[in-house]
Amino acid sequence: MSVHGVPTLYVVATPIGNLQDISLRALEVLKSVDSIAAEDTRHTSHLLSHFAIQKKLIAVHEHNEQKSAQLLLERIQAGESIALVSDAGTPGISDPGAIVVDLLRKAGVNVVPIPGASAVITALSAAGITENGFLFYGFLPASGSQRRKTLEFLKGYTTTLVFYEAPHRILECIEDLTSVLGGERRLTIARELTKTYETFHRCALQEAKMWLESDLNQQRGEFVLLVEAAEPVATAAISDDDERVLRLLLADLPLKQAVKLATEITGVKKNILYEFALKIKDN
Ligand code: SAM
Repeated sequence: MSVHGVPTLYVVATPIGNLQDISLRALEVLKSVDSIAAEDTRHTSHLLSHFAIQKKLIAVHEHNEQKSAQLLLERIQAGESIALVSDAGTPGISDPGAIVVDLLRKAGVNVVPIPGASAVITALSAAGITENGFLFYGFLPASGSQRRKTLEFLKGYTTTLVFYEAPHRILECIEDLTSVLGGERRLTIARELTKTYETFHRCALQEAKMWLESDLNQQRGEFVLLVEAAEPVATAAISDDDERVLRLLLADLPLKQAVKLATEITGVKKNILYEFALKIKDN
């Protein structure tokens, strides 16, 4: 199958739990391509056999993506059409796929997305978050210190923050979210989406750890964490003189030290100066 006879790479989203979530178009494409490039061929064979599809599979995982991309390019240039899938959800979203697509696009190959499930959008759609916009970060770093550093960087963002997390790191991740972002921000835990034990739990960050610890079952499975946006900083709270002091200090000192001194000199609240300093550094 190809668009107007042009050999094509189809980027096909697959279900994140409930197999009924596959789209009619995805099934049509999977049935008609010459082969399917899959993150884990065994995993994808289960999906295909459920829908009685038999197709040649090519392994494309994060450790061989560059090499496989080259192979896929050669096949497509030889006239094949190929579907690219990951284990679950949308390829390229915290999953392999982007390297293949980038290389093929650079080579002028026709690339067509076949949209479908993704945990981030599934979670957002039913979380009842009324703020506009969100920042999808994906997985935070596995190391505690790197994770906290990343969260410091994200702390001032005035959009909902969305993270993926694995069950073995869920508690430490919640601890770091609470300590860095503050316990009062609202959190939505979206767990096991589209599966039997699908759970949405909304609470303050400071209550989340206790909730997870009170029922070990809630620590199992797959998680999307949605954290309430930071309060927008009233930039009007900083006068031109205060800003000048902050800028002068930032020119010579590390951010934290500059903010501390600026707080003492100007009397402006530390968090306001901190947010302002982050903006200055970003520009
Ligand atoms: N490509 C996928 C997508 O489009 O959502 C994401 C793949 S990533 C390797 C796997 C992570 O996505 C899990 O650790 C979890 O954070 C999230 N995830 C995937 N399926 C989920 C589900 N059914 N419920 C909750 N989170 C899920």
